Amino acid sequence: MTAVRVTLPPGATSDDPQLGDDAVRHLQALLRIDTTNPPGNETEAAEYVAALLSDAGLSPTLLGPTPSRQSVVTRLAGTGERPPLLLHGHLDVVTADAAAWKHPPFGGEIHDGYLWGRGAIDMKHMVVMSALVMARLRREGRRLARDLIFAAVADEEAGCDHGSKFLVDQHPDLVRAEYALGENGGFTIHLGGRAIYPVQIAEKGVVWMKLKARGTPGHGSLPRDDNATVRLAEAVARLGRTRLPQHLTASTARYLEALAATQGFPKSLLLGQLKRPSLSGWVLKMIPDRGIAMALAAGLSNTAVPTVLRAGDKTNVIPGEAEAEVDGRSLPGQSAADLVAEVRAVVGPDIEIQVIRDLPPVETEGPSPLWDAIVATLGARHPGAIAIPILMPGYTDAKHWSRLGARCYGFCPNRFPPDAPRFADMFHGHDERIHVEGLRWGVNVLHDLVLRFAA
Ligand SMILES: [Zn+2]
Repeated sequence: MTAVRVTLPPGATSDDPQLGDDAVRHLQALLRIDTTNPPGNETEAAEYVAALLSDAGLSPTLLGPTPSRQSVVTRLAGTGERPPLLLHGHLDVVTADAAAWKHPPFGGEIHDGYLWGRGAIDMKHMVVMSALVMARLRREGRRLARDLIFAAVADEEAGCDHGSKFLVDQHPDLVRAEYALGENGGFTIHLGGRAIYPVQIAEKGVVWMKLKARGTPGHGSLPRDDNATVRLAEAVARLGRTRLPQHLTASTARYLEALAATQGFPKSLLLGQLKRPSLSGWVLKMIPDRGIAMALAAGLSNTAVPTVLRAGDKTNVIPGEAEAEVDGRSLPGQSAADLVAEVRAVVGPDIEIQVIRDLPPVETEGPSPLWDAIVATLGARHPGAIAIPILMPGYTDAKHWSRLGARCYGFCPNRFPPDAPRFADMFHGHDERIHVEGLRWGVNVLHDLVLRFAA
């Protein structure tokens, strides 16, 4: 990483209690608007955010393919000296089983220092923080070197069609930016006494596949060698138990090096050995925390996970064909065809493979002024903390912003104390919540970061 200055530019604020209070109040209100996707129904949330922006003198626009699936976009014009920065978040949330939660998922209640609700960290917090930063800069009458674009979008959790994909396809001029800041990262991980902040710099591609086995149909009383159900089951079992070949990407190499630097011997040595295909399988088995081992493994290979099975509908009839759906995820640098070839090598020549969805991977290579600004802001706001670049196995709205050329980073500043529940457990899990003081910290960090980068 290049050396960076750690002083704030002239005019940048330090802790602003008002910004923190506003973040808590508006996030409570937004969490009370149920935007469970499906069906989404994000329009009420989009209108709420638009009102917040309008009150500050901005001119937000609601856009979407249907009246119930609106996103909100606005722009704070800069001097035009540098290209725009896009701040983005999604308004929809995944389902929540209220019976399994300690406090209501759409109540916006504060208990034990946490604000509870579906969307608290995924990711209405970033929507609120970004909107408040836009509003604050507008009120202060700032002219930044870059236009700031804000987009709070529908439908990220179900594939982005009604949100970022719609905006990029239908209104590219409104959301085209050189840099984009959104999911996923910016939360504290306490590891071996160090505070680490992951920053997404890459995400895997989506290669969903349908596998089909064919055979001769017949009566269930007469066993056959070419039973489609059995052929498919064998292929699916092989695929489910096979780790696909390792490909070390630039982002995973950066991640492993940065992580190793935070760990003492022998962990640092073991992490380094993950780069070697001949040893990585053994090292992954040695890692006691299976969640961490799974995440590391997903960063080293393409993956193909069987999820859906379809075969036959009568006990006494051998079907002529059987189908499975497979959730494939490709590393940066790997195409759908590359992943299909790896799956082909496992399932054999007799299984038909059809790609049913193909969204390419995203990777923001190398250091950049935004990365440097993130590192510098963190250094000033959480002394001793470290930013670590990560590859996300899932997808985010970056899939679509990057189609317009944006260099995408995931950093939604959100400070967790060491005794907080694990971010990964709350992400799409029960009892999602955000630390109230961490939210106050986060909105101030985002404000500083935007000024540092765009002033
Ligand atoms: Zn999300």
